[in-house]
Amino acid sequence: MTQLDLPASATLADSVRAAGLKVTSPRLAVLTMLQNAPHSSAEDVFAGVRNELPGTSVQAVYGVLAAFTAAGLVRRIDPANSPALFECRVGDNHHHILCVSCGELKDVDCVIGAAPCLAPSDTSGFTVYAAEVTFTGLCEPCNKQLALEDSAE
Ligand SMILES: [Zn+2]
Ligand SMILES: [Zn+2]
Repeated sequence: MTQLDLPASATLADSVRAAGLKVTSPRLAVLTMLQNAPHSSAEDVFAGVRNELPGTSVQAVYGVLAAFTAAGLVRRIDPANSPALFECRVGDNHHHILCVSCGELKDVDCVIGAAPCLAPSDTSGFTVYAAEVTFTGLCEPCNKQLALEDSAE
């Protein structure tokens, strides 16, 4: 198998083009940022690209993210009590695990391996495409913190 040795930016431009979108520097900057920092909010992305794109605005970043999401290039997740988050890992039906204390969010592989990984007992006649699963719990640092507080009492 031959692998094309393209620079990272060329690969990103290719994926933007493959999604049917015009390649622009804001789009490349947003995609680069998301690859380096998955599960970023629009505000996070804006903070990450504003130096590179002095003329950009949060609204512009929202626009880019919406276009990417509609094109299937980016996945949008909406955890409870959190702004929408965006990531480049699409199409693998992976789930998320969320720390209820600090908000740390991690990827977890699909429970079954393909969508929908949960079968509802009654679909009301629907054809089911996907189940959005977010596991919640306490991350390791928060767990340790809790143990410390408990032992201090
Ligand atoms: Zn935590
Ligand atoms: Zn994810």
